[in-house]
Amino acid sequence: MPTKSLFPDIEIPNVDIWTLLFERKDRPYPDDKVIYLDPDTNRSYTYAQVRATALDFGKGLKANWGWKRGDVLALFTPNCIDTPPIMWGAHWAGGILSPANPGYTAAELAFQLKDAGAKALVTQKPFLETAREACKIAGIDEDRIILMGDEKDETARFKHFSSIKNFSGTSRFRKAKIDPKKDLAFLVYSSGTTGHPKGVMLSHTNIVSNVLQSANAGDYQLTWTGQKDGQGDKILAFLPFFHIYGLTVLCHQSLYSGWQLVVMPKFDLERFCAHIQNYAITFAYAVPPVILQLGKSPIVANYDLSSLRMLNSGAAPLTRELVEAVWKRLKIPIKQGYGLSETSPTTHTQRWEDWQSTIGSVGLLMPNQTAKYVSAEDQEVPAGQTGELWIKGPNVFLGYLNNPEGTANALTSDGYFKTGDVGHQDAKGNFYITDRVKELIKYKGFQVPPAELEGILIGHDDVDDVAVIGVYDESQATEVPRAYVVPKKGVEAGKEKEREIVEWLGKKVAGHKRLRGGIRFVDMVPKSASGKILRRLLKEQALKEEKD
Ligand code: ATP
Ligand code: MG
Repeated sequence: MPTKSLFPDIEIPNVDIWTLLFERKDRPYPDDKVIYLDPDTNRSYTYAQVRATALDFGKGLKANWGWKRGDVLALFTPNCIDTPPIMWGAHWAGGILSPANPGYTAAELAFQLKDAGAKALVTQKPFLETAREACKIAGIDEDRIILMGDEKDETARFKHFSSIKNFSGTSRFRKAKIDPKKDLAFLVYSSGTTGHPKGVMLSHTNIVSNVLQSANAGDYQLTWTGQKDGQGDKILAFLPFFHIYGLTVLCHQSLYSGWQLVVMPKFDLERFCAHIQNYAITFAYAVPPVILQLGKSPIVANYDLSSLRMLNSGAAPLTRELVEAVWKRLKIPIKQGYGLSETSPTTHTQRWEDWQSTIGSVGLLMPNQTAKYVSAEDQEVPAGQTGELWIKGPNVFLGYLNNPEGTANALTSDGYFKTGDVGHQDAKGNFYITDRVKELIKYKGFQVPPAELEGILIGHDDVDDVAVIGVYDESQATEVPRAYVVPKKGVEAGKEKEREIVEWLGKKVAGHKRLRGGIRFVDMVPKSASGKILRRLLKEQALKEEKD
C-alpha cells in the first residue's frame, strides 16, 4: 500500500492564486505589514502595496497589449522586490509567467522564450542587451520589453515598469476568468541538471495546493508577529525567484503567511552574514552549497548569526556530517525539505522538532499526497528497501511543455509522478533520498550513490568541496567512482594527498564504494544556480581527458 501523508488532509479550494492571496477572508496580518524589503535601496512593499501594484500592472498589461488569458510573460531578472507584484498582476490579467535564469546567454533565453511562446518580457537595465538579442531571435517585438527599476530611458522603445503600472484609476478592466485546475500559472524550467531544462506546466491549483500544504505542515513555526521586535520572523531571500524553490516558498508563502523577506539579488556569503546580523534574520531557505560554506568558510566567524532560529536545506542531498559540522561550529539547527519543479515544489519536509532525531531524512510527506518507492520493475517495495520515489497529489504538474513523450514517461495512468530519485522510508514515515537513479554509479553488480561519498569526503580536513562521478574503466570493464576535489588553501595537492584521501575514505565505506577512479584536484565544482552539482559537466571533462 502506498504511504498516505501522516498529516490530516486539508481542503484545497478551487481558486486561482490571486484569489488565494488577495481575496483571503482569514488573512491573519494587517494591510500595512511589510512583506518585501530591499536592503540596498530600503524600498519595501507592504501587503497593500503589493496588491495595488499588481492590480495596476495587470490593468497596464490589458491596456497596452490587450493581454489575454493564457498569454505568457517572461521574467529575466535577478531577485527584485518588484517581481512578485509583476507576477500577480500578470495572473490577474490571465497571464502565465515564465521566469528565466538571468545568467542565460541570448541563445539560452531565446530557447525558453520560443518554447514558452512568450508574448512579452520583463527585465532590468544590466540585462537589457541580452534580452533584446533574445527577443530578436525569438521574434518578440522590442516594444514588448518592460524595464524594471527606477531609471527611465526615453530613447528606447521598450516600456518602463512605472509607465505600465499607473492605471489604478481605470475601472474598465476586469480580472480574467481562470479555471484553476486547467489554466497554467507558471511555466518554470527545471534546473537542467540531467540534460536540457524542461518546461514544467504548473496550474494555479498546483501552486495554491503547495502553499496550503506548506502552511499546514511546513514551516508553520514561522510567524508574522512575535519574535524579538514584535515584527515576526524575518527571512533572508537569496534563492532565485526564477527557480521553483524560491518562487513558491519565498514569493508566495511569505505573502500568504505574512513573513517579512529581506531580498538579495543573489547569494553572496559576506552579504548573507551581514544581513543576518543587521536585520536579525530568523530563518532562511538554503541549499547545500550555502550550508557547506557555513560549515567551512572563515568569513562566517566574523559575524553574529545567533538570531537564526533554523535553516532549511533543499534542492540537493545534504549529509548528516555537514548538518553536524554546522551545529558544532555555529549552533544553527538545519532541517531538510525535498521537492521538484514538477511538484510545485515541496513534497516532504522535516518538522523543526525532528531536525536532530531524523538527521539525514527529508522528513514527512506533506498533506494530501500519497507516495511509494518502487523497484526497477515498477513494483512497490516495503519500508526500509530502496526504490525510486513516486508521488501523487494536487501539487503534481500537468506535464512537460511541447514534450508528450517526456510527460508520458514521467506520469503514470493512475496519477503518480516518477521523481527519478532513489531512497527509502523508515517504519515511522520518514523519507530518505539517496541520489538520482540516473546518477548512481554502477560498479560491477553494485550501485554506488555519489552523493553519499561526497558527504563523507566533505568531512576530510583537507577538502573544501567535492563532487563524485562514475568514469568508465576499460581494464575492469566497469564504471568506477572518481572524486573531483577542491583542496583547502595551502594543501599540497598531488599523488601523495590523493593516496591519503583514497585510503581515508576506503576505511569508512564498503569495498565496492572505494575511489577506484582516483582523485582529480580542481579549483571549483560546477554547480547550477539552484544549488546542484553538475556532474554531467565533469563526465564530459573526464571523457575529454581520456581522449587526449
Ligand atoms: P532536470 O530535471 O532538468 O535534470 P533538476 O531535476 O535538478 O533538473 P529541479 O526540479 O530543480 O531540477 O530539482 C529537483 C531535484 O532536486 C530532485 O529530483 C532531486 O534530485 C533534487 N533534490 C531536491 N531536494 C533534495 C533533497 N532534500 N535531497 C536530495 N535531493 C534533492
Ligand atoms: Mg528533474
